[in-house]
Amino acid sequence: MEDCENCKALKEAKNILYEDAICVAVMPEDGATLGHIKVFPKQHVHTLENIPDDISNHLFFVASNVAMGVFEAIGAHGTNIIVNNGVEDGREHLTIHVIPRKTGDGLDFTWKPKPADSNELDEVKERINQHTQFITSQEAQKIQQRDTEPLTKEDEEIDPEEDLLLKTLDRIP
Ligand SMILES: [Zn+2]
Repeated sequence: MEDCENCKALKEAKNILYEDAICVAVMPEDGATLGHIKVFPKQHVHTLENIPDDISNHLFFVASNVAMGVFEAIGAHGTNIIVNNGVEDGREHLTIHVIPRKTGDGLDFTWKPKPADSNELDEVKERINQHTQFITSQEAQKIQQRDTEPLTKEDEEIDPEEDLLLKTLDRIP
């Protein structure tokens, strides 16, 4: 789309950090903070629901990897990963924003908690649940098959040298 910021960045091949046949990771000039990365499919699609699962998995795989890159490269303490999924009347280019965060950086992505009425919460939970049955029927079976594998590397033994590095990093304000 001509008026789309992502399609324009792709066409101009500007500030591209990573590119493959499916997606790109671009560093916008007007990011929320230095190191802000946008990961998006090359095709102008609007929502995760519009694309096959293996493509959405790939987008998150790339986003996770660039997030790891900002940890390593600029010493981010964490990231906010925000997905623009069908926003702006459903016309905006599907985008995963990876925003590096540091303690005290002043960025504010928080919202005011809005306590829900418990009946309303139950009703909405039930309504959403009716549309997500496919998760329990198909995906859960695959997950159950791998439930003996450690989900994170934390279950692995940490070598003492690495442990020292982690302790040192913990002390950095
Ligand atoms: Zn676009």
